[in-house]
This record gives sequence, structure tokens and C-alpha cells, in this order.
Amino acid sequence: MTSIFPVPILRALKRRDFLKAVAALPLVPLACAPAARPSAGGAPTPFRRVRPSDPGWPSESDWRALNAAVHDRLIRVESPLDACRADPDGAACAEVFKEFKNPYYIGDHPALTQTSGWTDAWTSAPSVYAVAAEGTTDVAAAVDFAREHDLRLVVKGGGHSYQGTSCAPDSLLVWTRAMHDVRLHDAFVPQGCAGRIDPAPAVSVGSGAIWMHVYDAVTTDGGRYVQGGGCGTVGVAGLVQSGGFGSFSKNFGLAAANLLEAEVVTADGVARIANACTNPELFWGLKGGGGGSLGVVTRLTLRTHDLPEFFGVVFGTIQARSEASYRRLIARVLGFYRDRLMNPHWGEQIRFHGDDTLELSMVFQGLTKAEAEAVWQPFFDWVAAAPDDYAWTSPPMVAALPARRFWDPAFLKQVAPQFILSDDRPGAPADNVYWAGNRGEAGQVLHAYHSAWLPAALLEAKRLDGLTDALFGASRRWSASLHFNKGLAGAPAEALTAARDTATNPDVLDAFALAIVAGEAPPAFPGVPGHEPDVAEGRRAAEEIGRAWNEIRKLAPDAGSYVSESDYFEPDWQGSFWGSNYSRLAEVKRQVDPDDLFFVHHGVGSEGWSEDGFTRLT
Ligand SMILES: Cc1cc2nc3c(=O)[nH]c(=O)nc-3n(C[C@H](O)[C@H](O)[C@H](O)COP(=O)(O)OP(=O)(O)OC[C@H]3O[C@@H](n4cnc5c(N)ncnc54)[C@H](O)[C@@H]3O)c2cc1C
Repeated sequence: MTSIFPVPILRALKRRDFLKAVAALPLVPLACAPAARPSAGGAPTPFRRVRPSDPGWPSESDWRALNAAVHDRLIRVESPLDACRADPDGAACAEVFKEFKNPYYIGDHPALTQTSGWTDAWTSAPSVYAVAAEGTTDVAAAVDFAREHDLRLVVKGGGHSYQGTSCAPDSLLVWTRAMHDVRLHDAFVPQGCAGRIDPAPAVSVGSGAIWMHVYDAVTTDGGRYVQGGGCGTVGVAGLVQSGGFGSFSKNFGLAAANLLEAEVVTADGVARIANACTNPELFWGLKGGGGGSLGVVTRLTLRTHDLPEFFGVVFGTIQARSEASYRRLIARVLGFYRDRLMNPHWGEQIRFHGDDTLELSMVFQGLTKAEAEAVWQPFFDWVAAAPDDYAWTSPPMVAALPARRFWDPAFLKQVAPQFILSDDRPGAPADNVYWAGNRGEAGQVLHAYHSAWLPAALLEAKRLDGLTDALFGASRRWSASLHFNKGLAGAPAEALTAARDTATNPDVLDAFALAIVAGEAPPAFPGVPGHEPDVAEGRRAAEEIGRAWNEIRKLAPDAGSYVSESDYFEPDWQGSFWGSNYSRLAEVKRQVDPDDLFFVHHGVGSEGWSEDGFTRLT
């Protein structure tokens, strides 16, 4: 990455005054927009955003003016992969692919995204320019510039979109990575809500922060809990706008439902406060309406909760000795989940593999180790009672640790080095750590990704056989997993009430789990010789994953899908991601961004645009 202008240029930007008050301005439809323009023959041609090859692309002096407005934070984006294109066998290229396994390396580069691409769907591509924003005024200047020059605008925080929605070629990027302040409040009242909403403990976070750092500040330092994501390098703004699930969401609910207030720069370049009392519809839309569609969020304030005394894990892998015994094992574990685990204490996953193994990867909160062991003992006993049918290939492990140490980098490195990895670049901050389990996802190329919220009714005795058959059938083709923390059946009433007041598909409310079947290739990059993913293998895998998915899908054909962990090719994406909430979300979009400055693949309002977001279709 290089700054295009080595010397700060202090020329004033000719622009509208973007230092507008951060305040409760009324939301009115904007009229700054690209309408259809007459062609030479008089017939309107569809509006098209400009590319560098177009005459309308901003001049050098325009870019200099933007650079001045953002205090020399405009970057001409260069990809480290250029070294590979120049010399695929060279040391520089080898270094890039070594670093590709480090999510912090990827996250710290404006040209890169955590997922490199998706077979036959998208390939990560850098923007032409990026504003490495350090504050709201930088963001507002970039938004104004993109709107005034008809540019394709992209927003990136943590860079973890599976759908490729935080990158686009020929675009201007607003990159929020440097906006990562974290501030705890004892008694936060959203602006304009005094007397209407009780003060609550909360945390305000810059939109470019990642969860691992937020947890460290809120939990390790502050002794509180905030609901974020499971993967520590996911960005805060992207996750909250997704809906957002962490390991303990079965108790604390959606991350989005914990949002108390956001500051967001809308398409008119105005920084607006959104909360339950001020711009409430925009606020609602930000809670699960999908990132990159309504504006650029600059700050989020989230409710914090009392910290439980303990967090813990239950791990283990069981090998069944025949298909018949594997089927019985699946039925048993599902019934066990329904009877003993579908409550606020338990989250994370059970995975069903094709070699007749069942992998437990569960977490708990608010129980001691002894209490957790007591919960699981009947299941462990059942397995032990059938040695001819089952063996533990990875013995059951129940462990608990003080919740305050769960995201403490120093503590984890000491007591659980097998679970935690560090950013190994020279000089990297000591708190740049991530779960070992997420390492494989850095730099990956996806082949396919399917998800659905499975209704708790499928666990009823009369339907359990059907669910068992579906998971067994899927596992014959591809591993399937149930993410219990991503469905809210069994959650406390207040978590359900808060989730109901978000844009997320209401199917989440009575789902016992989000079922996921997905596959990927390890770090690779399409178009980089020697490091390309195997496309034929990717297509073969996608077909097989699709067949596995059909086994599960037929059980719940209308079930919604989690917007940020879903199929790039989702046919009815509006219904899948938002269900009955879509029309309200579309209205919010019309109010705050009537000209669709903000576009992402399968985001609200994107149906009016070409796949690449450059050409208006209607
Ligand atoms: C390895 C991995 C693990 C994951 N684990 C979880 C998990 O545990 N729980 C879960 O719920 N999800 C998980 N996800 C999905 C993840 O939450 C979403 O992809 C999320 O949108 C990523 O946010 P980000 O900021 O990291 O990504 P980005 O790619 O930067 O952004 C995602 C989307 O949000 C938009 N966006 C980002 N910042 C802003 C902003 N400031 N204002 C407006 N729009 C913005 C982008 O334009 C883009 O459309 C995971 C994804 C990956 C790749």
C-alpha cells in the first residue's frame, strides 16, 4: 500500500460542507442522484457508474482534493499479489502466501479480503483508491466524493465477507480499519432518549474494530460481556449489520439486538445518529439489514452484560463402527440436545462427518465444570455402554475457565496454547491473537456455502427420525454442522424480544440451530500462477455439497438463511435473508439511499443493479 501523495497537500477541497453536525437531522429522501441520461439518439441510457477507463473518471486534481480533505489518508491501492503476478516463484510471492495464513496480515491490507474468492462466483479485487479513514469526516468526504463523481463505493472493516461484498474492482474504498477505539460506559443513554430509555452499561466501538480486541477491552479489562462474533478477527460493524452470532448468543441473543446506537454517514454525506428515539427506522435497518447497504457506520454502542463466572468447552469425537450405529448416534445426540442442551447455557456446534464420526465442539456459559459434566454424563454413559458400536477417537473433554480470562491473550497463550495463535509478524501487538480453528479460513477460496435455520419443531419425537435421516444422508456426501448458537429457540424471553425488533429473518426466533454445509480450498488466489485453486475440483465439490444440502433443505424448504453465512447464488435472497422484514427494510433503503450509492451483492435494493453494481437495470 502506498500513499499517492507523498507530501500532504493542503489545498481545500471544493465540496459541500461535510462537517455537518452529527445530529438528529430528519431523514428525507435524497435527490442527488444519477437518473437515466439521454443518449445521442434521445433514448435514455441506463445510469452507469464510472470506471478508470471512462472520461468521467475523476482527474488527478480531483483525487488530490479528496486527499487533502481526508488529511493525506487517500491510498492508491496496490496488491501484494502483484509480486506473485510478476514472479510467481520468487521469494516475495512465497512470503505473501506464508502471510496469507495470518488473518491479521490480510486484515491490515486494503487490497485483501479474508476470503480470496468463490468458485464461479467472485474473486477478490482491490479498489483503485482507498480512504484509510480515521474519523467521521474522512468517511463523509469519501462518501461525498463517490456520490459527486458517480463512483462505485465499497466499505470494508474486518474484511470477512464470504460474499465478496467488501471489495470491487474500479471502485473507491472506505476502509475503517484504523477506527477502532473502544470506550466503556457505566450508564449510557442514547441521544434523544433521556427519560425514555433507562441508562445501561455499554461500550462504544469504532466501526473498524475487530471482536478479539473488543472482548479484551470489555471482558479482560472491564469485567463485562458484550455480544459479538465467534471468530475474533471479524469486524464489529459487519457482524452487527449481519445480525451477528457469537458462541454465547443462545443466552445474550443477536449482536444486532444489543445495539443501542450507531453513528452512520448516509449517502448525502451527513453523519446521523441512529437509535430507538432518533432515526429509529434507520436504526432498525442497521440491526441485521446487512452491511454496506444503508451507509457507512462509524461508531456503534452496544449494551454490555454481567459476566458469568465461567465459560467452558466440551470437545470430543466419536467413531461409529457401522452406518446403522452412526444413525442411532445421530438420533441420540439430537434427542440429547433437545432435552438437555437447548437452553441459554449451550452453544456452538456438532458436526456430522462422512466417515461415521460425530464431532462435539460445544461451549457453555454460566455453569461450573462439574455442572457441565453432570449434564453430559448420561450421554457419555450411553456411548460407553456400547463399545461394539462406538469409540472415542478424540476423548471427551470438559473444561471451564474464569469467564474474565476467556479472551485474555496472555492467559490463553499460557494455559491453552493449542487453541490460540498469534500474529507472527515482527512487531505485531501482543493482543493480535486468533482462534487456531479460524486459521484455515484465512485466504480460503469457497466452493459452496449453504445455511438454513432449522425450526425446533424438527426435534419433536415424531419428526426426529426425519431429521436424523437428513443429517445422515447429507453426511454421506459432505460434512454437515449444526450451529446451535445461531438459532434462538431456547433463548431467554428478553433475547427473543430484542431479536424480534431487528431486520433479521424472524425464522431465527424458533430455530434450534443454523445448519451449515460448506466447503473451501486452502489459501489460494485465482489468476496467480502456481497458487490457483483447482477450479475443476471446486466445481465437483460444489455439486457434492449441493447434493448434501438438498438432503437437509427438503426438511425445511422455506427456512430462512443467515445473510452472512449463505449461498452466493441464493435464489430468493430477499425472502431467505429477511423474510417478512424485507419490505420494511426496502423502505428504509429508499429513505436513506434512494439512488443506491451503496450497493452490495444481494443487499437490500441490489435487485435494481447489474451483478457488479455498476449499471442500473431499472
Ligand atoms: C472466518 C469467518 C468467521 C466468521 N464467524 C462468524 C461468527 O462467528 N458469527 C457470525 O455471526 N458471523 C461470522 N462470520 C460472518 C461475518 O460476521 C460477516 O461476514 C460480517 O459481515 C463480516 O464483517 P467484517 O467487517 O469482518 O467484514 P467486511 O467484509 O469488511 O464487511 C462485511 C460487509 O459489511 C459492510 N461493512 C463493513 N464495515 C462497514 C461499516 N463500517 N459501515 C457499513 N457497512 C460496513 C461491508 O461493506 C460488507 O458488505 C464469519 C466470517 C468469516 C470469514
